[in-house]
Amino acid sequence: MSRAHPVGAPDPADTRPRAEVEREVFLAGLGAGLGDSRDLPLDSHLHTIRSPDANAMLEAYCVLAVERGIAELAITDHVDFDPTMPAYGFASFADRERDVREAAARWADRGLAIRFGVEVTYERRYEEDIRGWLLRHPHDYVIGSVHVSAESPYKAFNVASFVAGHSLPEIVEPYFDEVIGAARSGLFDTIGHLDFVKRYLIPHVLPSQLAAAPELYEPVLASLVESGTALEVNASGLRQLPRETYPAPAIVSRYRELGGRHVTIGSDAHRTEWFTYGLSRAYGAVAGAGFEALAFRRGGTRVDVALPTGLLM
Ligand SMILES: [Zn+2]
Ligand SMILES: [Zn+2]
Repeated sequence: MSRAHPVGAPDPADTRPRAEVEREVFLAGLGAGLGDSRDLPLDSHLHTIRSPDANAMLEAYCVLAVERGIAELAITDHVDFDPTMPAYGFASFADRERDVREAAARWADRGLAIRFGVEVTYERRYEEDIRGWLLRHPHDYVIGSVHVSAESPYKAFNVASFVAGHSLPEIVEPYFDEVIGAARSGLFDTIGHLDFVKRYLIPHVLPSQLAAAPELYEPVLASLVESGTALEVNASGLRQLPRETYPAPAIVSRYRELGGRHVTIGSDAHRTEWFTYGLSRAYGAVAGAGFEALAFRRGGTRVDVALPTGLLM
């Protein structure tokens, strides 16, 4: 079966606002079954109203999870350390933890497990702040992600001039260098959306160009393998401009070939309608790469979560 997205590849001539195109990608994917993920053991990346860019109620995810047979959720709201970033000081640890622990208690007898996680924005310059904070604020599960801040060369008003005159390796280097820093820090169970930068590079650099240069990923993948940090296969790219997971299935396979053994999967929903969107595709990528289990943590040491048998690849 082809791994191509049901609505095709990004069109470099499409100049509509990103939100408009992504709405169309999302709806087309719904028509092609990307909303039909069912009977899966884990969605390890979810945002609620405790994130500044999300409007989903935790309770709504729980209802859908039971309906769809999703056995376990990790609630991973944003925490930022850069005062100019939107999740800086947005929700308190106490509020986030109380929301999740209370939901976990309410839903346990319906067979749904809910873990208290976090998605920390990693920036090398805040690494020691993050280290101290994580020590003082224990979570079940911690994602470290590189996002695009106001100063980033990938921000909409910077990216065209940044891309002009730079080679592809030079273009991805600032993003991947921070990802390598996140992996080597040893602070995180997983790295969120490993190549999220491809969303911001469209239309200047297309996912197909990155797919044709897999060697650009090798230092990043090596940093995951060497540090024991899990690779997250993030399904949100399927409803965004790239129309493929972060990272694409071929990169998941390359990670395994390089010795990677720890992988996790999340839908990265910020709205109720995005819950588990594309999750089956992400499971297919992981199974197709030869993995038999996901790596997860429930507050203690890492645990394996077996993949269901008979996954569509
Ligand atoms: Zn993120
Ligand atoms: Zn996220």
